[in-house]
Amino acid sequence: MPDRISGLSLSLVRLPLATPVSDAKVLTGRQKPLTEVAILFARVHSEGGREGLGFSYAKRAGGPGLFAHAKEIAPNLLGEDPSDIARLWDKLAWAGASVGRSGLATQAIAAFDVALWDLKARRADLPLAKLLGAHRDAVSCYNTSGGFLSAPLEEILKNADAALESGIGGIKIKVGQPDAKADLERVAVVRAHLGDEVPLMVDANQQWDRPTALRLGRKLEQFELTWIEEPLDAYDAAGHAALAAALDTPIATGEMLTSAAEHWNLIRQGASDFVQPDAPRVGGITPFLRIMALADHNGLSLAPHFAMELHLHLAAAYPGTTWVEHFDWLEPLFEERLEVRDGRMLVPGRPGLGLSLSEQAAAWTTEQVSF
Ligand SMILES: [Mg+2]
Repeated sequence: MPDRISGLSLSLVRLPLATPVSDAKVLTGRQKPLTEVAILFARVHSEGGREGLGFSYAKRAGGPGLFAHAKEIAPNLLGEDPSDIARLWDKLAWAGASVGRSGLATQAIAAFDVALWDLKARRADLPLAKLLGAHRDAVSCYNTSGGFLSAPLEEILKNADAALESGIGGIKIKVGQPDAKADLERVAVVRAHLGDEVPLMVDANQQWDRPTALRLGRKLEQFELTWIEEPLDAYDAAGHAALAAALDTPIATGEMLTSAAEHWNLIRQGASDFVQPDAPRVGGITPFLRIMALADHNGLSLAPHFAMELHLHLAAAYPGTTWVEHFDWLEPLFEERLEVRDGRMLVPGRPGLGLSLSEQAAAWTTEQVSF
């Protein structure tokens, strides 16, 4: 039965972090420590009494811009059939076409797109992963939030132990400090502490140039890393491709890209072994599925960036090797908690994304608008 979108509501939430965190971008002086994340929530209501919840986000700057763009394009959805998600994505993109088909413009669309997929899955009474066609009911997961450069080494080891004890399967730590020797020492200590069996990843957050990445990449081979993440500038596809060809250790990148077209540029140049799309950043689930298909056809592995609450469902629907990133940051925004066991995160059995907003999310709301 067709349905109609009868109402929409948008909210901008400021999520504070318990402790400010720094990656290499802070140590090289490019950014300030991260203290909060801005979340754009979209709720879509239908005449049939259905509701879908979606979100997008911005770190440091961009939250108010996301909200403003979403507010401007939202009325285009009223009266539309919420099942026609691909067509509605195009409609929203054309409504804002003057400001482009990537970046902030599409990240605002992402909140609506995710809400429409959530609504469709709820309507089918299926978890999103099942609606998409799941390959597995649990996905390997690794911890990132314990491995920032702002944490002293002893704390990193303690965080890693706690993560593994809670059932998380792998550990990622940040590298890319101005002093490369300090990076190598840190990795050596963590690898020795974890033993050879625990999957370990490093993330340089784009702070190396090509010669540094190659030299350090060779020195890192001995640690049997699961991957080296963002060794180079996010848009240096040729540099990533050369590195991926030169090293045995897999290369991972893609989190900063903001469209399926940008991902295709990386994939077709052989720039990485693991693609790391971020559904809110690329414009939602609709473009993410296109990236998944491209990655699969090119024999790549998938490790979506951030937002495990959403990416768990998408990774479960990927045919190849896949990991989700365990970040507990968004937890206070939702009533539900994800379960982790034996190294993997379990896809919840609830319909849709299986998420509902908490009272805390309401308390942190700074802007709100309804149509
Ligand atoms: Mg990263």
